[in-house]
Amino acid sequence: MTDAPPHGFRALTGMRDVLAPESSRRRVLVGQFADVVEAAAYQELVLPLVEDLGVFLRVGEATDVVTKEMYDFVDKDGSRIALRPEMTAGAVRAFVQHSPVLPWKVWYSGSNFRHERPQKGRYRSFDQVGVEVLGVDDPDLDVEVIALGWRFFERLGLRDVRLLVNSLGEHADRARYSEAVRSHLESRRGDLSEKALETLGRNPLRVLDSKRPEDRAVVADAPRVADHLSDESAAHFARVLAGLDALRIPYTVEDRLVRGLDYYRRTTFEYVADSLDSAQNAIGGGGRYDRLAEDLGGPPTDGIGFALGVDRTLLACDAEGVFPAPARALDAFVVDLVGGDAARDLTHALRAAGLSADRRFGAGSMKAQMKAADRSGARFALLVGSDELDAGEVTVRDLREGGEQRRVARDHLIDDLRTHL
Ligand code: AMP
Repeated sequence: MTDAPPHGFRALTGMRDVLAPESSRRRVLVGQFADVVEAAAYQELVLPLVEDLGVFLRVGEATDVVTKEMYDFVDKDGSRIALRPEMTAGAVRAFVQHSPVLPWKVWYSGSNFRHERPQKGRYRSFDQVGVEVLGVDDPDLDVEVIALGWRFFERLGLRDVRLLVNSLGEHADRARYSEAVRSHLESRRGDLSEKALETLGRNPLRVLDSKRPEDRAVVADAPRVADHLSDESAAHFARVLAGLDALRIPYTVEDRLVRGLDYYRRTTFEYVADSLDSAQNAIGGGGRYDRLAEDLGGPPTDGIGFALGVDRTLLACDAEGVFPAPARALDAFVVDLVGGDAARDLTHALRAAGLSADRRFGAGSMKAQMKAADRSGARFALLVGSDELDAGEVTVRDLREGGEQRRVARDHLIDDLRTHL
């Protein structure tokens, strides 16, 4: 057994504990996301945290997420498995496994794991909420999906969010474009960063994502994807943009937006929070994909989805001063001066009636119990002394409005509290 270090174990690098009230804030955030997408007929999909390594390798062997950052290991039976670095691959694996009726509209939330260099807004364990739709090629679906993410950010109260959209075209378009970018970058090798040269060998389009100043200059005059789209892809994209216009969702066409994962085609998009540092300002992104269902052993199926980063979205909320952590809402705190039976029984009865209640454990003085009641954030303190006990009553003290108090018969207590809450 490993001995505990002198100051106890700590969470691993890049992994964090989330304590209250931040933990409640996350739960509310996921609840709001669920409201937005369930109102559009998306159903929740709960996925395993680990999958066969092969599921993620299909996502793209040319991406950092897969080549460098995956938490993969050999299971006890010798099979190679991995902690999920994202959820699309798992969702499509589930689609192939269950062959649901089309279109399949799902949403999910949960943690993902990537062995990245941790910094503010970039962690090794981070949460996402997202949607995926399988089985629809209609560009109006792209509009629906993009609009859902937009509505969610609006609902949180974020204002400083920009939507970037692009189209990568079909595979053939993308392959031709990738070649054009490769030859442009090759011709400017001398001006590129070390990192960009390394990426160029694996996936030239990823260099377009580089944030390094020396690369930006080379990228600025790289060929444009818009010049490499087939007529069909161009028409699809035009319909997407027309839809965003119709819904009055502002956007910027960003033709350098290629996104990290390999399986994207046609529409790609990203939500950027301008209140965050530019290195970590992508709060979500997504796009259309194909081949993924086939690669995972299913029939050829169109797909589109997005994933929004919960951690970064909350940082953006902090930066804009919106979506505060919910205040602690406790209905009642029982102060028992008669030995503990009242605290034990009243809290139980209140909770059974759907009210929230707490108490202090251990025989505390009236002062200690009142202090705990104040700290609990409860609306009412319910005092039971020998006087109240004899009379079958409880003293209800309003902890918010100047300590006003009244005596209430024990039998009417719950009704009384309900009318005053
Ligand atoms: P991706 O799956 O890379 O497209 O990421 C989708 C979103 O997840 C990003 O826009 C971020 O908001 C968030 N995200 C990705 N990687 C991390 C990370 N290491 N730490 C925190 N958030 C992340």
